[in-house]
Amino acid sequence: MLGTSSIAAKSMNCPKCQSPQIIKYGHTHYGKPRFRCQDCGRQFVEGATRQPIDETTHQLIDKLLLERLALAAIARVTGVSQRWLQMYVNQKFYQTPRTIEVTQKNRDG
Ligand SMILES: [Zn+2]
Repeated sequence: MLGTSSIAAKSMNCPKCQSPQIIKYGHTHYGKPRFRCQDCGRQFVEGATRQPIDETTHQLIDKLLLERLALAAIARVTGVSQRWLQMYVNQKFYQTPRTIEVTQKNRDG
């Protein structure tokens, strides 16, 4: 007997350090089971960790962005959070190579 029965049977990973060493750690006020990472001590609730956005959703978001839909609308359609979407858009624009030349100011005038 190693006494490891408290380790959650489901394969979960710590949202912070991705460690699979997760133990049950009581419940939240809402009755949801709470878990704790044995590696970094992070406590979290199952379901609170957001699923990674899959490739299909990424492509759909890209299309919708091209349609110039509002972020709120895209978030509703694709089911992602507006906060995530905003971050995604920022990242996307940041990664886009700059092709716009900086207009030089005329010195005379
Ligand atoms: Zn952890």
